[in-house]
Amino acid sequence: MSDCLFCKIRDGQIPAKLLMRDDRCIAFEDIHPQAPVHVLFVPLQHIPSNNALTPEDRELVGHLVLSASRMAAERGIAESGYRVLLNTGPDAGQQVFHLHLHLIGGRKLKGSMG
Ligand code: 5GP
Ligand code: ZN
Repeated sequence: MSDCLFCKIRDGQIPAKLLMRDDRCIAFEDIHPQAPVHVLFVPLQHIPSNNALTPEDRELVGHLVLSASRMAAERGIAESGYRVLLNTGPDAGQQVFHLHLHLIGGRKLKGSMG
């Protein structure tokens, strides 16, 4: 999608601190980290939000979650703990309408159930 920030990062048109790339997703540092570890996992495919997922995306969603758990281990926060967030829509504060998971950790996180 031409006017999408994360598509532009995927295509190298906007710089980002890229941490991994494979055939299905990229991961990069959030520009405004909320914790010592704050990584975004973004599918290469432009999917606007959780609401747009279809059964065909099952494997992709699993891949994103597994990529986040692998990164948590690599960054040394698997045992101390972390959150994986998928904000959807205005009430959740979704800012970028290209599906992404947040991996947040490296400090004690406060309650975030709203
Ligand atoms: P959302 O609120 O949509 O779940 O999260 C969007 C995230 O993207 C926010 O945490 C925000 O800091 C991050 N973000 C926004 N613009 C940029 C950017 O240009 N580069 C990077 N690396 N992250 C961004
Ligand atoms: Zn996009």
